[in-house]
Amino acid sequence: MRTGSRRGILKEDEMAAGAEPASSYPRRRGAPPWAAGQPRSVRRAGLPGRAGLPGRAGRAGLPAARRGLAIGIDVGGTKVAAGVVDGSGRLLAQARRSTPGSDAREVEAVIVDLVAELGRGHRIRSIGIGAAGWMDLSNGTVLFSPHLAWRNEPLRSNLEELLRRRVTVVNDADAAAWAEWRFGAGRGEPRLVCVTLGTGIGGAMILDGRVERGRHGVAGEFGHQVIVPGGHRCECGNRGCWEQYASGNALGREARELAAANSPVAQSLRAAVGGDVQAITGALVTRLALDGDPACQELVEEVGQWLGLGLANLAAALDPGTFVIGGGLSEAGGLLLGPARRAFARNLTGRGFRPAAAIEAAALGPSAGLIGAADLSRSLPRGR
Ligand SMILES: [Zn+2]
Repeated sequence: MRTGSRRGILKEDEMAAGAEPASSYPRRRGAPPWAAGQPRSVRRAGLPGRAGLPGRAGRAGLPAARRGLAIGIDVGGTKVAAGVVDGSGRLLAQARRSTPGSDAREVEAVIVDLVAELGRGHRIRSIGIGAAGWMDLSNGTVLFSPHLAWRNEPLRSNLEELLRRRVTVVNDADAAAWAEWRFGAGRGEPRLVCVTLGTGIGGAMILDGRVERGRHGVAGEFGHQVIVPGGHRCECGNRGCWEQYASGNALGREARELAAANSPVAQSLRAAVGGDVQAITGALVTRLALDGDPACQELVEEVGQWLGLGLANLAAALDPGTFVIGGGLSEAGGLLLGPARRAFARNLTGRGFRPAAAIEAAALGPSAGLIGAADLSRSLPRGR
């Protein structure tokens, strides 16, 4: 579905909406794969468009820095985070809501509400939604989302009807990777692999300035490479998937196991949850490790080793220049990435006789997904 067309590229005057010059960023070489998937009726006829955004009237006098903006929305399992993003990747306004229950219509209503809130006082030119799940990029349908109620959900057309605006729907890991490539730790890297460590492992690739999603749009599921045959059971149905060893959830599980064994080394861990071992989470272990708790540091180190092993496998297959590691677990910084880099160096095939990829911490934090979704929405053809 890649067009190779340059219609999707912003013109210089459009880029100038952001305060920094466009030339300071890697130039996009073409529209993203899903650009061609926009319905022609929307592209040609033009929906009521910007006029359809609540509160737009009377904005002719807005300063230049507030024009040409995009709204990015990151739909997660627990929260929906949204922001107004300028052409330099800067967040000018933010809002968030809890992800409502399991009803797809309620999630759409929350998105509409956030767009209305953020649209006030900003001239919005496009809207991008990043959502966890497998997408049919040709029509913006979410085929399956593990943490949300979406099953073959025509998210894009539903939202375009509700918002009377063109909407871009992308995978959340792709959105975060795009943001890191455009504005963060992967800036300028022609072959970038992003790995997001959270509940599971999110994966995405940016190759020569475009998001690589594979033949059917479902590439990047690095977390489900089997790394321990017969190992821990994974939600995907297999055993021994990488994300059962190198994610925030894996860290929490290992810590609970350690605490339940009543080991004296886990004393502070147990104390932190008042003896309620089941309340131990990966986020808690990360925080205690950063505070200097030796047992928690060991647990993070172990996860780092698994991370490095999996990255070595990915390097054998993909040969990226840089891995960017994001997600909540990456907040452990060197405690995680030090062991990961050592394990990577030990397990890399052809080590000593080949250039090795850099392993860097993500730079944009938890806002990467919404920044990337907003920026990708700007890359779409403008219908003119
Ligand atoms: Zn799996």
